[in-house]
Amino acid sequence: MTARIIEGAPVAERLRAEVTAEVARLRADHDLQPGLAVVLVGDDPASQSYVKSKGEQSLAAGMHSVTHRLPADTQQDELLRLVADLNADPLIHGILVQLPLPKHLDEKAVVSAIDPDKDVDGLHVINAGRLVAGLPALTACTPVGCMVLLRATLGDLAGLNAVVVGRSLLVGKPIAQLLLAADCTVTIAHSKTRDLPAVCRTADILVAAVGRPRMIRGDWIKPGATVIDVGINRVPFDNPEKAAAGKTKIVGDVNYKEALEVAGAITPVPKGVGPMTVVCLLQNTLTAAKRQAGLEA
Ligand code: NDP
Repeated sequence: MTARIIEGAPVAERLRAEVTAEVARLRADHDLQPGLAVVLVGDDPASQSYVKSKGEQSLAAGMHSVTHRLPADTQQDELLRLVADLNADPLIHGILVQLPLPKHLDEKAVVSAIDPDKDVDGLHVINAGRLVAGLPALTACTPVGCMVLLRATLGDLAGLNAVVVGRSLLVGKPIAQLLLAADCTVTIAHSKTRDLPAVCRTADILVAAVGRPRMIRGDWIKPGATVIDVGINRVPFDNPEKAAAGKTKIVGDVNYKEALEVAGAITPVPKGVGPMTVVCLLQNTLTAAKRQAGLEA
């Protein structure tokens, strides 16, 4: 058996078209232009490229988009002042502070300072609490993207056994809550889980959000299961010449070659979950704008 490959790009494009159309409708019918502010502190190359892409894609969807680039030595009070200004700015409906921040800054305090209704990264404790309570929340973009892919692949998820490997606030915990809300029976596994392969083998839906290259082997996967690989790990090329030249490539947390032989469907890395993340940020910004304007979300 060879698994069906769940390509993220076509699903992301469909969602992007929906978001773009809804932004145009809001502008025409309500004179409301969703606005996103992205804040980058320092010059980490990966963060710079993520921030650039978020700015470009929000503009392309017809949104108001502002990027604040601050020097690496920005002090906590300066950053908090900017967040307070953005909280008060009626043209801004979504605020994203790109993480990680430089070491001298307190990330938790910065995230807590964001108005929860503008917290499009879904990291504020109020949004984490709303998610658990089943109340309207802004939820982290990658978990939302995983759910869109799962629904596009499987339709109704009710009653399925889901195992999430990883329990971070950014990925594992929100995915587990979203799966529970979709009526799955959910197990959350982590670094202290006993006999992880056996736990994984119970999964109809297996979500890997660990950050360990190819950790999940083919024989950990129940035949026919749907596998969502969130991991992004940089490793040397298998080809010795490329590896010797110091070239690297990106792989997931799942051993893709082995999993292809067992799973029913699987996301590749890259081009699986990755393309969903920014489009879900746009969707969160749209949702935030509608809620702040008192329109149904
Ligand atoms: P964290 O490092 O915050 O969390 C990793 C989790 O994996 C922890 O809960 C940890 O358990 C668990 N873990 C670590 N080792 C093991 C092990 N040997 N067995 C079982 N569980 C283990 O990472 P994130 O959640 O932020 O990210 C996870 C992965 O997803 C990374 O590769 C990251 O790059 C990627 N990612 C991808 C995104 C995308 O857009 N595609 C977006 C965000 C992240 P414990 O809690 O016990 O320490």
